[in-house]
Amino acid sequence: MAAPAASDSRATRRIVIENCAIATVDADGTEYASGHLVVAGNLIESVGAGKAPEGLENVVRRIDGTGHLVTPGLVNTHHHFYQWITRGLATDHNLFNWLVALYPTWARIDAPMLAAATQGSLAMMVKGGVTTASDHHYVFPRGSGDLVGAELAAAREIGARITLARGSMDRSVKDGGLPPDFAVETTEGALKATEEAIDTHHDASFGSMVHIAVAPCSPFSISTELLRQGAELARRKGVRMHTHGSETVEEEKFCHELFGMGPTDYFESTGWLGEDVWMAHCVHMNDSDIDAFARTRTGVAHCPSSNARLAAGIARVPDMLAAGVPVGLGVDGTASNESGELHTELRNALLINRLGAHREAALDARKVLRLGTYGGAQVLGRTAEIGSLEAGKLADLVLWKLDGLAHSTIADPVTALVFGAAAPVTLSLVNGEPVVEDGRLTTADEEAIARTARAEAQRLARIAAEG
Ligand SMILES: [Zn+2]
Repeated sequence: MAAPAASDSRATRRIVIENCAIATVDADGTEYASGHLVVAGNLIESVGAGKAPEGLENVVRRIDGTGHLVTPGLVNTHHHFYQWITRGLATDHNLFNWLVALYPTWARIDAPMLAAATQGSLAMMVKGGVTTASDHHYVFPRGSGDLVGAELAAAREIGARITLARGSMDRSVKDGGLPPDFAVETTEGALKATEEAIDTHHDASFGSMVHIAVAPCSPFSISTELLRQGAELARRKGVRMHTHGSETVEEEKFCHELFGMGPTDYFESTGWLGEDVWMAHCVHMNDSDIDAFARTRTGVAHCPSSNARLAAGIARVPDMLAAGVPVGLGVDGTASNESGELHTELRNALLINRLGAHREAALDARKVLRLGTYGGAQVLGRTAEIGSLEAGKLADLVLWKLDGLAHSTIADPVTALVFGAAAPVTLSLVNGEPVVEDGRLTTADEEAIARTARAEAQRLARIAAEG
C-alpha cells in the first residue's frame, strides 16, 4: 500500500506544530519533551525534537503547542453506534439479562434513528480524541431500509475514519439463541447483504475513510453455518472479520452445552482465528486460549468499562500482551458504557487491570497509550497508515491540553493524559484536516446532533412501548 507522492498538490499545504511534548508511539516509543511536527497535505512530513526545519513552503498554519502533548489519534476498535439512543436502560443487569431486556427495543431501529445515533456516538468520541472508529452493527430489522448506507452517510459528516463491521444474527430463540425471532435475518440474507456492503462501500486504498468487515454477532445469536460462510466471504473479499468472544461465564457455558467446547475452540473450528480477525472482550480465556490467539495473531478489542458495567470480569490483558496477542481498546456500545468516550478507557484499562492477577505490574501509562493508538491500528489492520506519529503516515493526531487546572501539576505528560482526568482536546486532525478545535467539533453542530438524537431516542422508546 503506497502513500501518495509528495508532489501531490494537496501534499504541499503545511501545518507546523511546535513547542509541545510528543509521544510518537513508534516501535521504540520515541518521545520528545519539546518537539515539532509538520503536516503536509494529509500526511505527516516530519516529527522530531526542537523547532521545525527552517524554510518550509506553503505553511498555512503555525501552532504554538506550549503546554500540550501530541499523540496519534485514538483508535476505537469496538462499538455499537445505534446504542446511543438506548443509554441508561437495564442498568443493573448482567450481559444475558441486559440483552434480553433490550433486544425488543433494538429490533425497532430504522435508518433515521441509526443516523442520529451514529452522529451522537461519533461526535462524542471525536471530541475526546478518536480519529478512527469501528462500529459493529448487527441489528437489521425487516423492512428497515439501507441501514449501512444511512450510517456511513451520517459518519461521513463527522469526519472520522470508519471500519463498519457489518454484523448479523440468524440464531433466535426458536433455534436455542438469545435474540427474539423477529430480530434476526436468514443466514443467506445476512451473507448476501454483507457481500453487498463490501462491494458498495469497502475502500482498501491508502488513507481510506471506510473499511467494511464481516461481523456475525456472537456465538449465542448466530448459526455455525453463518460463521463458516462468513469467514469464507471475508477471505474471498480480502476484508477483516470481527465478532464478540469469551465475554461472560454464561457464554462459555452456552458454548459447552451447544457445541461441546469453549468459545475459542469453537471459533478455531469455524475458521475464526487468524491475523485478519479481531474479537471483542475475550474476558474468559484460559492459557491455551491465549496461546491460540498468539499463535494465530488474532486481535482483541479490550472494553474495560463495558466489562465492568455488565459485571463480565477482567480480561487478562497483561498475559495477552506478554504472549504477543495484538490488543486495542474499545468503548463497546453505549447501552453498556454510557459515557461513550475512549480517552476514559485509557484510564480504566490501566486501573481495572491492576485489580486483576498482576496487580501494580499489570499495565503502565505508556503501555495503555499504545493500546489506544497503535494497538487499535493493529487490530483494524491499518498500521501502515495510522497508530503512530511517523513521517509518511496519515496526519491523524491529537493536541491534548495539559497545562490547565486538571493536569498542570503532573510533570510527565503521558502520565497526565492516562492517570488524570479526560484531557481537553485543543486540536484533532484527520487526514490533516481539523475535526476538533478548542474542544468543539468543527465538522457538525453538536447541539443539533444532541437534539436530533434525543428526539430519535424518544421516538424509539414510543414505538417499542407500543409493541
Ligand atoms: Zn459489543
